[in-house]
Amino acid sequence: MSFQVFGIPVSRGVAIGRAVLVASSRIDVAHYFVAPHEIPGEVDRLLRARDAVALELTTLKDELPEDAPHELAALLDVHLMLLHDEAFTGGASHWIVERHYNAEWALSAHLEVLARQFDEMEDDYLRERKADLEQVVERVLRALAEAQGDAPASVTPRDFAGEDPLLLVAADIAPADMIQFKRSVFRGFITDIGGKTSHTAIVARSMDIPAVVGTREASRLIMQDDWVIIDGDAGTVIVNPSPIVLEEYRFRQRQSELERARLSRLRHTPAVTLDGEHIELHANIEMPADAEAAVEAGATGVGLFRSEFLFMNRGGELPSEEEQFEAYKAAVIAMKGMPVTIRTVDVGADKPLDRLTASELRHEHVLNPAMGLRAIRWSLAEPSMFRQQLRAIYRASAFGKVRLLIPMVAHLSEVRQILETVRRVQQQLTDAGHAYTRVELGVMVEIPAAAVMLPLLLKHVDFVSIGTNDLIQYTLAIDRADEAVAHLYDPWHPAVLQLISQSIAQSRAAGKSVSVCGEMAGDPAFTELLLGMGLRSFSMHPSQIPAVKQRVLRADAQRLAAALPVILGGDDPQSVAEKELAGMRARAPSVH
Ligand code: PEP
Ligand code: MG
Repeated sequence: MSFQVFGIPVSRGVAIGRAVLVASSRIDVAHYFVAPHEIPGEVDRLLRARDAVALELTTLKDELPEDAPHELAALLDVHLMLLHDEAFTGGASHWIVERHYNAEWALSAHLEVLARQFDEMEDDYLRERKADLEQVVERVLRALAEAQGDAPASVTPRDFAGEDPLLLVAADIAPADMIQFKRSVFRGFITDIGGKTSHTAIVARSMDIPAVVGTREASRLIMQDDWVIIDGDAGTVIVNPSPIVLEEYRFRQRQSELERARLSRLRHTPAVTLDGEHIELHANIEMPADAEAAVEAGATGVGLFRSEFLFMNRGGELPSEEEQFEAYKAAVIAMKGMPVTIRTVDVGADKPLDRLTASELRHEHVLNPAMGLRAIRWSLAEPSMFRQQLRAIYRASAFGKVRLLIPMVAHLSEVRQILETVRRVQQQLTDAGHAYTRVELGVMVEIPAAAVMLPLLLKHVDFVSIGTNDLIQYTLAIDRADEAVAHLYDPWHPAVLQLISQSIAQSRAAGKSVSVCGEMAGDPAFTELLLGMGLRSFSMHPSQIPAVKQRVLRADAQRLAAALPVILGGDDPQSVAEKELAGMRARAPSVH
């Protein structure tokens, strides 16, 4: 049966493929394809893990003390029965044989199918056996992990390009897990939770693959293996489409590929407006390896290196100074002399260090993580960790142009502490004989307080970067990851536009460079408006650079500046802007 699910479009484009349902708790299970000749071995690996667990359970049962409660032995019997049920390993093997999934993936895919059958059972006792099934699967997954050495070595996801594309469907995905999907087999994402600038959405955009979040119930309605279309422009998910609808979307997919190819021809064209203003189009990156895509897309620097992703997935351990230094150095070298703006760690809120999703964090740990100990607040609360990161960043400056960016600044006292720490770190490096060069210091304007008191902050820093994702969240008091209030998350809100415009004007008046690195910078709908506000430096995901550049090439910065008071002065900036800009776009010469 064909049906649609609606959500929030967060990453453009159309993806067509089969649904892979993954429970949030099992997202960190490895997902890769095995080569055809490795299939028998992989099935064998699964069976051996099953046998190991069966032995473990039997031994447990045999060794139960005499006085152990009777229920315990009964429970072990249930687990053994589930384990030996042909539907269990037979079902999982099916995914290995038919789809070439690795054993862990096959097992979790099969668990999703079985769990759903349990959910639908009328009988309470039987329905509750789902928890037992999950425990058995956990045990087998652990057994597979323990026998890791047996896993096939040739595990590149691209080996089977001919296979049906796969789309990931999950209730929620933690940013720490999202990062693992960067080079994964998935060609699109659908989640129940999340908003336009939640970090899951940001990572999906950085991967340049279509995504729809905040669907509320996609993971409940879509079945494992269903054919699904993700319309990342409209925020629609079409499940089991009819042949006509499928054809229509295949056509749209081809059109957008052609459009992409056309835009990529602008890669080496300098971003200069019609009236000769040079615009910096920088890249936002999460890992040093992303720098390659930045150069490839024609970025003239890195405007935001979100260093927190280096800190994730490490079971609570932090990366050493040496490890961080190597990562920053790699990005700096890859950018070949272009500036690299490294932001100090911004964990907390919807970016927990470990595999927690935003909702788990909200419910289990902190009352209001977005307003809690995150970003610079965390760094200042952990001074030795902060100094370690600063040392690594400064040492990387010996290899190119490095800029240091501090997230979530709200107090002058924070800037003073940062400056003091920087001085101490410089002294430590000099004493240790490490080379470093001058590193410009910048603060992010993400909290309205910082925007309002910017002239005070500007006296102490070299540059400013406006983080519109958080600035909108805090100005409008809208949790950026909460789909229930996503409709109120409005970049066009007059208060937001006033704060951005004012921050750009004040930075320029103070002779300091200013950039926007939030998602607004990469959305072509805002390019002209930001140019009109006087912005000359934008930072965005590499994949967004060509479309923004096209807007820059067709823009007249002077005329946009003249239109700004009209746009900001009205009740409804969005409709005034659309009207004003449509007229200007119509008169602009076309580029390519
Ligand atoms: C922002 O808040 O706009 C920003 C760029 O930082 P992040 O999205 O990483 O919070
Ligand atoms: Mg931010």
